[in-house]
Amino acid sequence: MATLELDSITKTFQDGDEEIVAVDDVSLSIDDGEFLVVVGPSGCGKSTTLRMVAGLETITSGTLSIDNRVVNHVKSQDRDIAMVFQSYALYPHMSVRQNMSFGLEESTDLPDDEINRMVSETGEMLGISDLLDRKPSDLSGGQQQRVALGRAIVRDPEVFLMDEPLSNLDAKLRAEMRTELQRLQNDLGVTTVYVTHDQTEAMTMGDRIAILDGGELQQIASPLKCYHEPANQFVASFLGEPSMNFFDVALDGDRLVGDVFEYPIDDEVRADLGEATDLVLGIRPEAIKLVESKSDAHEFEMTVDVVEPMGDENTVYLHFDPDADPESAETLVATIDGFTRVSEGDSVVARIPQDAIHIFDGLTGEALHNRSMEDAADQVDLA
Ligand code: ATP
Repeated sequence: MATLELDSITKTFQDGDEEIVAVDDVSLSIDDGEFLVVVGPSGCGKSTTLRMVAGLETITSGTLSIDNRVVNHVKSQDRDIAMVFQSYALYPHMSVRQNMSFGLEESTDLPDDEINRMVSETGEMLGISDLLDRKPSDLSGGQQQRVALGRAIVRDPEVFLMDEPLSNLDAKLRAEMRTELQRLQNDLGVTTVYVTHDQTEAMTMGDRIAILDGGELQQIASPLKCYHEPANQFVASFLGEPSMNFFDVALDGDRLVGDVFEYPIDDEVRADLGEATDLVLGIRPEAIKLVESKSDAHEFEMTVDVVEPMGDENTVYLHFDPDADPESAETLVATIDGFTRVSEGDSVVARIPQDAIHIFDGLTGEALHNRSMEDAADQVDLA
């Protein structure tokens, strides 16, 4: 087990005359035994970051340390890491047992019976003991993924690096493997960096998540902190499905003035905004409440445009202006209880609670005011 430190790591690629900055001055400290998920949209630099840690890609500038040892120029095989990829990369002509023992045979001088014992133990841990004599082609996708994991685990590395390891599995198996991987990582206590573009994996698996965009680190914190207290508008929009609602607004005294609505704010919220006047108001769909009738200035008469029933919840698309062209009207997306009766064309009143709003700087995207994570956690008591 080990700590991992990325200090101002940058990676550039040369594409003809063009220089591509894939990873831009990223600094991260990963604790011993921590499960860190690196997440972001396609092309944000996740895999390149992981590949530099693995030693599969050179580092253009910055320092990479594993357990306080600088490893920039240490060969991949000497870094004591094990990688699991999206493609399982099993050797097709070898049995499961051979696939799992191969790395140990190559990198250690352990006797065969010791290697066999380790493979059998790991096979048991992963529930694949009865598959050890099969070839990869005779296994399901989920079983192949277990073998790929087993091959990494059996080496007992200091660090696990995982690049979208579950994305070839169907939704149900992915959910099962998510839980299993967390349990395994917890039991083994091996420092793990896990790359994904899937925000559900990021939210559910990591002790912390690091969110990248355009090669730059946007935020690193616990999943709930990133969700409730996003550092900027990018993080706020990336986490959460449906995405947070955003409205361009201007600050006028104690009101946020949008194209089709005004939203009063109290002094406490106002104090967070400093000198900025071009702002973005954000509200998560699940924070919006539909109420009987309008009774305060944080409630708005709206028209239901579309209702998407999801079973336990409905996703409702609302318009501020009943006469507006649906194509161009400002839309508010709300997630409400699945048993609430609303239909297309209904007039409803939507409350945007002030204790749940976020406000971002309209120019930089930086979060100026967030709902507090503690308040968010206090909203619901157990029955
Ligand atoms: P995805 O989720 O699609 O795999 P990613 O976040 O892992 O994306 P990277 O694969 O790290 O992104 O790529 C980051 C950027 O670097 C992209 O713009 C990509 O095109 C570029 N890039 C990656 N590898 C190379 C390379 N060998 N040569 C040139 N550009 C590269």
